[in-house]
Amino acid sequence: MKAAVLYAAQDLRYTDFETPRINEHEILVRVKASGICGSDLPRVLGNGAHYYPIILGHEFSGEVVEVGPAVTNVKVGERITGVPLVPCLKCFDCQKGWYAQCKNYSFIGSRVFGSWAEFVKLPAINGVRLPEGVTYEQGALFEPATVALHGLLVMGFRGGTDVAIVGCGTIGMLALQFAKILGARRITAFDLDSRKLALAEKYGASACINTGDPDFKRQILDLTAGRGFEMVVESAGVEFTEKLSLDIAGNKGHVMFIGTPAKPITLTPGEFENINRKELTVRGSWMSYSPPFPGKEWELTGYYLQQGLLRVDELIDRVIPLSEINAAFADLAVPGKVNGKILLKG
Ligand SMILES: [Zn+2]
Ligand SMILES: [Zn+2]
Repeated sequence: MKAAVLYAAQDLRYTDFETPRINEHEILVRVKASGICGSDLPRVLGNGAHYYPIILGHEFSGEVVEVGPAVTNVKVGERITGVPLVPCLKCFDCQKGWYAQCKNYSFIGSRVFGSWAEFVKLPAINGVRLPEGVTYEQGALFEPATVALHGLLVMGFRGGTDVAIVGCGTIGMLALQFAKILGARRITAFDLDSRKLALAEKYGASACINTGDPDFKRQILDLTAGRGFEMVVESAGVEFTEKLSLDIAGNKGHVMFIGTPAKPITLTPGEFENINRKELTVRGSWMSYSPPFPGKEWELTGYYLQQGLLRVDELIDRVIPLSEINAAFADLAVPGKVNGKILLKG
């Protein structure tokens, strides 16, 4: 088969590679659409890969072309989205249903070969059927959508609340839409990029604040009558937005950190004291799983996509052939050049 194989840092080649062979519990999928995730950048451009050579890609959809003899949940010819986490299902955490915290997990597209290829194999339970009418492109956006929804579910998001979405990247835009779907009273979006804020408005943000504006703090005070927000969802994972999230949460507010920082974060005593003084509930979120595996995040994402309540088409920057993946990474290395998700097709 053809695949984009990573042989070393910055050495990604579109080449011939052995087609995966399945065992009795696995399925073989012909990849129809596959995303490039922010987490793939350090793997390709830096030394973030587990080993070489490796095929990355963990956000994908495709058609089932072969199933092992023990597989009963999916059939050849069905359209699926791929669930990348492969938990051991045996350890303490897995028994609890805390699959994302499994110590013996595998992960398609980082620990085992992923979807930047013509074919990918996965355990049958990692194939989630795409609802009728949901496209393969939308199917490749399932995984990031479930990450956003999981964050809201973990923080106990409730309807009727005044929520701030800090960071309008792919996860932020998806969290914004889920906040709307789940009944947020008011949504305020924060970003530095006015193009992203324009899209946030289209997705239902009632206010947008550009953190590049010199008076943006004044805007927050005006908007919330000095009270801050009831719920804050952070997804950028940089020091500025992590601190901002603690700062703009109101008394007794809830802050959800979905974004993962790549650099150290230093808080002054005053910045930390936000948590004490306002009695904040600060939560983190990791991946997108709940029992029974892979969880309601996956089922609901399919449902909301099918109903047209969740929109992902505008989150796609471009769809290109897998053979042009290196051009995509050249653009991704330039900050601000890519505005959204890049999808790869066979
Ligand atoms: Zn990802
Ligand atoms: Zn486990």
